Amino acid sequence: MNNVLIVDDSPITQKQLTMICKETGYNVIGVAKNGQEGLDLFEQHKGNLAFITLDITMPGKDGIEVLKEIMAKDSDTKVIMVSAVGKESVIKSCIEIGAKSFVIKPFNKEKVKQTISFVVSR
Ligand SMILES: [Mg+2]
Repeated sequence: MNNVLIVDDSPITQKQLTMICKETGYNVIGVAKNGQEGLDLFEQHKGNLAFITLDITMPGKDGIEVLKEIMAKDSDTKVIMVSAVGKESVIKSCIEIGAKSFVIKPFNKEKVKQTISFVVSR
């Protein structure tokens, strides 16, 4: 099971995460540009995902709402939140809701890779 899902409204971040996931040996099975698309792709692939990267700040359904819905459907799903700097309190809530870890934009590639291996190994 090495499929991953990327949910992020920023095309640049989508590209960066896609590249990092591929370099780390994962198959990017879907890229969603908003929360609803992310939930639809999650429905299609749930139970078959190594992890999901989930942006916090998105128009429409934000990452926190999406995280809650994902956790309600399958709390075993490994979700890595993607956040801009300075959102520590929001990240804390996400961890309480069930996210496994987080990465901060702008990315430190090595740190993102470390976070991925940490989350997948748990
Ligand atoms: Mg965003």
